[in-house]
Amino acid sequence: MSATRLPLIAGNWKMNLNHLEATAFTQKLAWSLRDAKYDPAEVEVAIFPPFTDLRSVQVITEAEKLSLKTGAQDVSEHESGAYTGDISAKFLTKLGCSYAIVGHSERREGHHETDEIVGRKAAAAAAAGLVPVLCIGETAEDLKQHGAAAVPVSQLENALAEIPAEAELVVAYEPVWAIGSGSAATPEQAQEVCKALREKLTELRGADFAEATRILYGGSVKAENIAGFMAEPDIDGALVGGASLKVDEFTNIVKF
Ligand code: PEP
Repeated sequence: MSATRLPLIAGNWKMNLNHLEATAFTQKLAWSLRDAKYDPAEVEVAIFPPFTDLRSVQVITEAEKLSLKTGAQDVSEHESGAYTGDISAKFLTKLGCSYAIVGHSERREGHHETDEIVGRKAAAAAAAGLVPVLCIGETAEDLKQHGAAAVPVSQLENALAEIPAEAELVVAYEPVWAIGSGSAATPEQAQEVCKALREKLTELRGADFAEATRILYGGSVKAENIAGFMAEPDIDGALVGGASLKVDEFTNIVKF
């Protein structure tokens, strides 16, 4: 964590909680954060509900002026048209979203998303005023064959080729082998890759951009291991899956 970048704790709900459950959960989370004396000036919190929950979450966050940002778990690379089932970044902006996750490993694997598609999705998000949360990370096989940093660094480079140079982004380093496995990377392993990612950002976008860009770690983050990640100089927060669905656990992560 650096003194200049605002830490970001992002909760990816994946395909969990319908819109009624989402409303109740968001309210409980807001109370829990308030009771824990959460200060948005110190840490930013963003939740990523399923698309069908976004309107309900927007209504409650706006009506109650909650200090919670929202984002979508995916976005179309297209603005509008004959793309059945896809969701335009413009629609997400209208729903009060600040962010859109692109390139989560579950979409790369299950929906055959390449780095180029992921980069175009990030570009579409940025064009509509969203900040893309660009997910990258190596599989267990990649780790064995190439080490930890090579694949995520090349995924970052390929995606950046599609994204305008001035577009703000958040990078989420998520080793695929750590996601949902209960076995997180060590803070030292994650730091090594995040440092290499920042060096690549410096090379391709310049030092100011690299210094300003937040790089998150994701993969089995819990309340008991978050502090170790946040102590590392190139880790600026976490993308949290399973633990973001437990109000107390997520609050304790935010309070690292
Ligand atoms: C994720 O889905 O982005 C994730 C990191 O999941 P988990 O925290 O459950 O490993």
